[in-house]
Amino acid sequence: MRADLFPAPAVPRLPFLDRELAFPVHRIYCVGRNFAEHAREMGAPLERGTPVVFLKPADAVHPGGPLPYPPGTTDLHHEVEMVVALGRDADGPLAPGEGQALVCGHGVGLDLTRRDLQAIAKERRLPWDVAKGFDASAPVSALRHVDDGRPGPDTALRLEVNGVLRQEARLGEMVFSVDEVLGHLSRLFRLRAGDLVFMGTPAGVAALRPGDRYRAVLEGVALLEGRVEG
Ligand code: MN
Repeated sequence: MRADLFPAPAVPRLPFLDRELAFPVHRIYCVGRNFAEHAREMGAPLERGTPVVFLKPADAVHPGGPLPYPPGTTDLHHEVEMVVALGRDADGPLAPGEGQALVCGHGVGLDLTRRDLQAIAKERRLPWDVAKGFDASAPVSALRHVDDGRPGPDTALRLEVNGVLRQEARLGEMVFSVDEVLGHLSRLFRLRAGDLVFMGTPAGVAALRPGDRYRAVLEGVALLEGRVEG
């Protein structure tokens, strides 16, 4: 076997809450427009047809705490989202009802977005990568193992910035369920243990500025908090 020219990059990992276990990250899938009010605030028509999907690099995960303000933007936006973690590979396309069996944990994350660059991309019909897939663009909390508790339709998803509520919804308000999103993804990609899925954000997205304190909660399941650095 050939020797590597340089040490292979380390696999990004997330901790599990209350367990001496880590979750090695394979891919990060993100769903857009999964709450009707947020689709409306972005001026997008709500389509029940198929979920909007994009990806972030696995090493965009960030553990929270001090968060770097990214270069290339003057309009960094927060999108608080439930994050679903897959602990098993899918054999192929999933039938309805099969998705939940792959899920090993849940967390709360921020789908950080360079909104100014996304607006340009939308206007010019360009890819979203520079708006969505930058370094540390995917802060995710420690994960709650499914055997220690699962969120339900009444579970609240919430983001406070500097102690003021910015975003709040119940998971039951999602347009596409976890099962439907995993089914859709499984028909487009090979789902693997280590995949994370950001499930979409409720209304109330707005700017995060240097010095802001953020506190994202998936009620009774997960907590992500810290401060945006200058
Ligand atoms: Mn999002």
